[in-house]
Amino acid sequence: MQKNHFIAKGLNENPISEIIKVLKYKAIWNNKKLIQINRYYPSSQICSVCNYQNRNIKDLTIRKWECPKCHTYHDRDFNASVNIMFEGLKIYMRSI
Ligand SMILES: [Zn+2]
Repeated sequence: MQKNHFIAKGLNENPISEIIKVLKYKAIWNNKKLIQINRYYPSSQICSVCNYQNRNIKDLTIRKWECPKCHTYHDRDFNASVNIMFEGLKIYMRSI
């Protein structure tokens, strides 16, 4: 595909929107619902245990952190994934 400049350019312009298009298509195809959360939701800054927002970890090089409120030790990506799941569930529950 990279040899065809027109296709390669189209896919590289906004890869996230291309992924979302495919996910929407797959969700419809499989009779599922795709929930999108706000792109600015601070999923990696919020403690998934106590909901404290730690604004001191905006630096992406910080991969693990301890919540100053409940002292839970977080892996940045795993914590973010838990928060994204719960945010998606909240949006879904409001929609039904
Ligand atoms: Zn906490």
